[in-house]
This record gives sequence, structure tokens and C-alpha cells, in this order.
Amino acid sequence: MTINIPENAEYIMKALRDKGFESYAVGGCVRDSLMGKEPCDWDITTSALPEQTGEIFEEQGCRVIKTGIKHGTVTVLKNYEAFEVTTFRIDGKYTDRRRPDGVFFTPRLEEDLKRRDFTINAITANCDGKVTDFFGGIDDIEKKVIRAIGDPDKRLGEDALRIMRALRFSAVLGFSIAPDLQKSLRKNSELLKDIAAERINAEFSKLICGKDFAHVLLNFTDIIEVFIPEITPCVNFDQKNIHHIYDAWEHSVRAAEAIPADPVLRLTMLFHDIEKPSCFFMGEDGQDHFYGHAKKSAETAERILRRLKFDNKTIKAVTELIALHDVEIVPEKKPVLRRLGKMGDENFQRLMAVKYADNAAQSPIVRNRREDFKKIEEIAAKAREESSCISLRSLSVNGRDLTEAGFPEGREIGKILRHLLEGVIDGKYENEKEALLKAAENFRKC
Ligand code: ATP
Ligand code: MG
Repeated sequence: MTINIPENAEYIMKALRDKGFESYAVGGCVRDSLMGKEPCDWDITTSALPEQTGEIFEEQGCRVIKTGIKHGTVTVLKNYEAFEVTTFRIDGKYTDRRRPDGVFFTPRLEEDLKRRDFTINAITANCDGKVTDFFGGIDDIEKKVIRAIGDPDKRLGEDALRIMRALRFSAVLGFSIAPDLQKSLRKNSELLKDIAAERINAEFSKLICGKDFAHVLLNFTDIIEVFIPEITPCVNFDQKNIHHIYDAWEHSVRAAEAIPADPVLRLTMLFHDIEKPSCFFMGEDGQDHFYGHAKKSAETAERILRRLKFDNKTIKAVTELIALHDVEIVPEKKPVLRRLGKMGDENFQRLMAVKYADNAAQSPIVRNRREDFKKIEEIAAKAREESSCISLRSLSVNGRDLTEAGFPEGREIGKILRHLLEGVIDGKYENEKEALLKAAENFRKC
């Protein structure tokens, strides 16, 4: 069996071969090629020692970056493409269950492949594209199954991040997880508590954007609960409310399924109702009510996202959307333009996506709310088309105009601009510089 090796990767492997070393493409690139997908990057494994790899490519005039040399990795740039070239290695003992105590180089490819996580990630191809498969990875790709190399308990015990990687590959590739590995994932899930938040984040972010993420989150909820225990009260939380057909956790996952695969949107849906159980209140009508749950859920989401080391931009976007997810927007021009003006167009569009997704995971009885959402979107689209003033940017005065007109710099300026925008949206002011400066003056006086 052969796969197609792109020119730059072939060049790297041939240069190593010409100096008498073995070298192979390995991991995701071979797996993806066999699945008919275009790989994002090509990792190379070689019998050459890191210093030897460095010398060979410096001699060839390539840029060589040696930051990963301790772990055997040298990055080589060929035609601006980066290749990680790693010496065949065996990982030392994992006393902290996270990182090997040391790495040892080996002249044998098979030894290197044995330390890898799953059979589908341990297939190699040489510079001619000839594929070698020691552990039945090709068969597992055909069967669409994630299987550990060796004893799952031992492998997860060495590095618990593999638990997250198994879930991530299952979600992204749409593969099942072999029964012995599944059992082991559950048995060892507590070990995730020792894994750095950044590493969990990297896998979790990919997982929730995978095509089968909902299946994974619903089948392995107990594992997700280890690092997001805040979801526990939502699991099996039966909402006695005509709007709902799922428990709170399944509703959140189904809502996430109904929104595009973007981390901000997926995180928003996953956590938008997380404080529903704590806001539960039985009304006289015999229906559940959850007053204040949006704001409280936004706060809890912020805590979770900070703990998982998400960046500030993501946290801000997610929490704003959660806090507003059930805000009522009357499908009429003024309220729609006001909301648009307040949120900005990008966030407004996201909020509408959130509303559709939330609705899609509710009871069919309330599906007709979509008619209102459609009207709201039509009003917003028309405003965009007519280039109506819907954002601070489209206002005919800006902060500088105000300071030049003698308004003191600082916070006050933002407040005045927002007041002017609201006035223009409400039809109180003309979107015209002189009129707005006058309105600003009056606003300051009162
Ligand atoms: P992707 O398409 O996401 O890049 P990948 O399989 O290339 O998937 P990487 O994280 O880039 O994943 O890792 C490259 C290879 O290194 C893997 O295919 C696997 O062989 C090995 N590997 C990575 N992380 C681990 C780990 N924690 N334990 C064992 N092997 C690992
Ligand atoms: Mg990779």
C-alpha cells in the first residue's frame, strides 16, 4: 500500500536516506492520507540523532530550529513549511503520570512506534509513500475504531492525556472506541485531575468541534465531569416544563449540536443552562421556572473557562452570549436595531445562532418561535442593506470629534457615544455631525 508524499516532505526524508538514515512520515499525516484527507502537517521520525539531523539540514541550507532537541525533535524549514523531525525514541518511566522521566533514543523504528498512543497513529510511510503498519492500524481505520497500542490501563497510567485524546479522535474522526479502551478510560478517568489545564483545553477544544462530539459527550459524560464537575447537577436534571424534552445536560449538548462547529458557539451552548438546577423554582402553574439562570450560568461558565485556561477573548464572547441567551427581542425595528447597536453586528449574529440552536433542542411545541427569529434577522438584514446606523462605527461623530469639541477625554465619551447611537436608532437624532454634537451638549448638561 502507498500514499502520496508531498514534495517538501519527500525532500526531507530523501536527504536523511542519502546520509544513510532511516526516516518515515508518521502519525496524523499517514492516518489522514489513508482516510483520503489532506494532512495539515507532516511529522517525520528518523534513526538520525537530533544533532545529526541538524547538521544534515544546515548543510542543505535549510533553517533549523533546535528548541525541542531534548526530546529528540528538530524543526526543519523547507520552502517555508515546518517539519518536526524526531529521532526514534523510547519514553522513560512515567513516575508523575504526565511526562516521561527521560527519553532514550533507539535505532529501532518499532520501539518508537510502541510508545505512541493508538494503532491508527502508529502507521508510517517512507519517502516513496510505502506504508508500514506494525499494530494493525490500517485495519482499525477500516473498522473505524480507536484502539490502544498495548495494555490500555498501562498506557493511560503513563499519560492520562491519552484519555482526552481517545475522546477527541473519536469525536473528530467519527470512530468508535474499542471496548477494552472504553473500560480503561472510565477506570482511569480520575487521573485527568493531574493533567495540566492547557493540555486538556487543547484536546477538549478540538473534541467539541468534532463531527461526533455530541455522541462522545453523552456517552462519556462521567469523564467530562472529572474536569468540569459543574455539569453534574445538569445530568439527569428533568425539566418539568413544556419547553423541554431532554434533561438539562442533554439539552445543552443537543443545542451545541445545532450550532456551527466554532469553539465560542459550542462552549456557549454547552454551558448556557449550567445553573438551571440551582435556579429551579416550581411555579403555581406546576411548571419549572429558572429566573436568573442566564446570568448565573454566565458566571459559572467564566469560572470553568478560566480554570481551563481559555483566552480572555473567548471567555468574554461566551459569557456575553450566555448572559443574553434568553433575552427577549421583540421582532420590530427599534428593539432589533437597539440590540444590534448595543452588541455589535458580529455578536448579534452569534446571539441569533444561539437562539436558533437553543430552540432546536427544545420541545417541538415551541419550534414556532423561529418565526420571530426569522423576522428579527430580516429586520437586521434590511438595516445592513440600507446601511442604517447600527453601530458606533457608523455614527457620524466619533470620540475624537467629541474631544475636539471640548468634551473631556475618558469614560464619559463612550457613554455619550452610546447615548447618541441609541438616539439615532430611535429616530430622535439625525445621524449628522452638527446635530449629534448639539445632542451631546444637551446630554452633558442634563
Ligand atoms: P493531529 O491531526 O491532531 O495533528 P496527530 O495524530 O498528528 O493528530 P499530534 O498531537 O500531532 O497528533 O501527535 C503526533 C503523533 O505523536 C501522534 O499521531 C501519536 O503517534 C504521537 N502522540 C502524540 N501525543 C501522544 C501521547 N500523549 N501519547 C502517545 N503518543 C502520542
Ligand atoms: Mg499532528
